[in-house]
Amino acid sequence: EEAIENEKEGTNKTKTWRFKAENVRDFAWASSRKFIWDAQGYSEKGVDTMAMSYYPKEGNPLWERYSTEAIIHTIEEYNKYSLQYPYPVSISVNGPVGGMEYPMITFNGPRPTLDKKTGEKTYSRRTKYGLIGVIIHEVGHNYYPMIVNSDERQWTWMDEGLNSFVEYLAAQAWEENYPSRRGPARNITNYMKSSYQVPIMTNSESILQFGNNAYGKPATALNILRETIMGRELFDYAFKEYAERWKFKRPTPADFFRTMEDASAVDLDWFFRGWFYTTDHVDISLDKVTKMHVGNQDPEVEKAWDREQFNKEPMDISDMRNKDMKRRTHDKPELLDFYNENDKFTVTNSDRNKYNGSQKKLEDWQLELLKNGKNMYAVDFSNKGGLVMPIILKLVYTDGSDEVVRTSAQIWRKNTEKVSKLLVTDKEIASIELDPYWETADVDVNNNYWPQRAIESRLQLYKRKKSKSLMEKYNQKLKTDKDEKKDAEKTKKAA
Ligand SMILES: [Zn+2]
Repeated sequence: EEAIENEKEGTNKTKTWRFKAENVRDFAWASSRKFIWDAQGYSEKGVDTMAMSYYPKEGNPLWERYSTEAIIHTIEEYNKYSLQYPYPVSISVNGPVGGMEYPMITFNGPRPTLDKKTGEKTYSRRTKYGLIGVIIHEVGHNYYPMIVNSDERQWTWMDEGLNSFVEYLAAQAWEENYPSRRGPARNITNYMKSSYQVPIMTNSESILQFGNNAYGKPATALNILRETIMGRELFDYAFKEYAERWKFKRPTPADFFRTMEDASAVDLDWFFRGWFYTTDHVDISLDKVTKMHVGNQDPEVEKAWDREQFNKEPMDISDMRNKDMKRRTHDKPELLDFYNENDKFTVTNSDRNKYNGSQKKLEDWQLELLKNGKNMYAVDFSNKGGLVMPIILKLVYTDGSDEVVRTSAQIWRKNTEKVSKLLVTDKEIASIELDPYWETADVDVNNNYWPQRAIESRLQLYKRKKSKSLMEKYNQKLKTDKDEKKDAEKTKKAA
């Protein structure tokens, strides 16, 4: 009510406000006679912060419902993953600015739309999450780069990328199925395989595809580090250590990379080199599966197996056609002898003697391995995209059960182009799926299956409109006002 009263007229009177702040690198302020003021306190570990929102009535009902709550949510979540918010206030202002950050104050644009004819106010799903998302993002900038004071003009990813990553974590803590665009691995694949790009480690002035390069890709890379490479516990510890170590200081990229490594004791050089210094993408292909047979040297078993493999071969085309051919030996069976009854798969006493002798030379563990009857598979992979990543396999067994087997990216350390993984299983494998949860940003999942799967595609059954030639377009009659009216009526009827 006070705000509605205030907005009726302006004033010529002057008033002086003096602002004082500690540990800030920039400042901003806002004033308007239309402002509604909404505030709520937040207290954590002895630090009291007043979260405040300033907006005109045009911002409602979105702003009264979400703004102050989103500020507090941001502080609560960012405190978990970064450092404790140190300032006495955090302000969210609705005005003409779409989204901009300053220490303790942010400007956030989204508002409902007003139908001028009906006076009805509505907002889209996009506007709702646009508002919550931009407030989390801009308030999040207090941490990066206002406090962890990186050089945003040099390395945009150090504030926008890190902030977009924590924004993703905070948004997911807002509600289930929050529609986050940046963070999930699968959302970055189109950008990763695009040709018009530069590495993340590019000076801000020279970046191509700014949003994907400095916001989306680093945020996704960090999420993959957390979920797939390091695990949440180790990642969260190292990531927080970076914020604690570098608050109110001037970190460079190397400081971030080094802290993530030495706080976790995990070698991440390969990851940072691939994801931050190149434009390679992830495309690992599951090329081949070889089912291996542990030879136990027993001739009775081995030669039977050899015969089985031989019998699996298709019949020679001539043999097939000669099947009913009259042969000389049909009439003269006396021409058949020992070699017609025994083939190369016949077990001889010589074989048996050799086997009995060799068994005595084997160690116990070797005899055990020969007896246990495990299934062995050599699975071959090739690296088509350039980035090495862990190999995550979902094994489905012939009895219908399944299991996920994870192998670290170090499997690629001696050969970054091709590797083989040996699987030893009790049960027989029916199928294998590479990266079953789409967590590595593999840009082509069609080569991730054994046996290979058919690619699902939709055939459209309607005809595409034939485009007109330049001459047809040129000769088209120019429409008069009357024609336009007719067209409008036609579409009205159709609607
Ligand atoms: Zn930003």
